[in-house]
Amino acid sequence: MPRVSPGERLAAAARERVARDAVRRLRTVSRREGARIEIDGRRLLDFSGNDYLGLAANPAAVAALREAAAAHGVGGVASHLVCGHHAEHAALERELADWLGWPRALVLGSGFAANLAVLQSLLGRDDLCLQDKLNHASLIDGARLAGCALRRYPHGDIETAARLLAAHERGLALLASDGVFSMDGDVAPLRELAALAAREDALLYIDDAHGVGVLGERGRGSVAAAGLGPREVPLLLVTFGKALGGYGAALLGSDALIDHLRQTARPYIYTTATPPALAAAMRANLRAARDDGWRREKLRAHIARFREGAARRGLPLLPSDTPIQPLVLGDNARTLAASAALDAAGFRVAAIRPPSVPEGSARLRITLSAAHAEADIDALLVALAGIVEH
Ligand SMILES: *Cc1c(COP(=O)(O)O)cnc(C)c1O
Repeated sequence: MPRVSPGERLAAAARERVARDAVRRLRTVSRREGARIEIDGRRLLDFSGNDYLGLAANPAAVAALREAAAAHGVGGVASHLVCGHHAEHAALERELADWLGWPRALVLGSGFAANLAVLQSLLGRDDLCLQDKLNHASLIDGARLAGCALRRYPHGDIETAARLLAAHERGLALLASDGVFSMDGDVAPLRELAALAAREDALLYIDDAHGVGVLGERGRGSVAAAGLGPREVPLLLVTFGKALGGYGAALLGSDALIDHLRQTARPYIYTTATPPALAAAMRANLRAARDDGWRREKLRAHIARFREGAARRGLPLLPSDTPIQPLVLGDNARTLAASAALDAAGFRVAAIRPPSVPEGSARLRITLSAAHAEADIDALLVALAGIVEH
């Protein structure tokens, strides 16, 4: 094969993106006040973020960040195992374990890094990673990096999952699923997955990036809401960038699992610890996510109001009871046009296109937050009804 010049490679990829209506445009936010944002100089009502509980600007977290930065600075200084592990990280790990009901927690830089960490540290050549087809990109990449066999079952299809699991007879088997699917908003069949994992002696790993804070008693997430705990789901991922309104992530598991990850997970070992001040802010938001039941109640009321209004106007929503309420339009160009029309009407709603979602299922990914007001939801419904019909 002849050598390809880098310039030619990039130009060909760019031409192809244009032809598929797949170009992504970066917008810059200059102000944010709850769900009101100034983005590329325009004042819009945001329905695209993941700040489900309205904690991104929680005054208690801002105060904790300020105070901890004044005391400990802004740097992580070193990796955890060198001298980056601070008392704030240790306290956050204890409080997460107590809140969610798992024995131990391990704080990591991000959910993406955590998924690479889990799969790379637990799986190797003879092992199997079984995943739902709609799992987050970082779970797919983690399995690729681990060099294990990666098998994916159609979304929520337990029978196929069982068949694929039974067919792989050697090595360790890890069954990984999003708890709440990030682009569809539905919840995984967690009880069925737990029963399958138990029957096949597989390790069940749930990525609850969109469930913790939102679902379950005291916001304990999709696993708790399904009546499950560490016995059925030995390993759990919580991310801080969604309902917890911050940045970072944590894995929850047994002493043995967390020790193993701390000793072997490269995305934990070879990276700088997050700033202690960020851990302090996340401790404040953990308390709010756990104790402010009114935030979850308000969010639930918004979800119900939006779904009722959408049904009355004949808007075809996916079956989702979470703050993620996608409106699938199918075609990339049509979805982009709808997003642009919403922008013109004063709303920021993201057009999500392949490869983030399967080919032919481009969608408006509408997200709701406790930071919205009822009137915001009603205004969006009016705009959607005018735009999506055409
Ligand atoms: C956002 C997300 C991640 C990545 O988490 P970050 O902390 O943003 O890197 C992982 N899994 C799922 C399901 C997500 O939605």
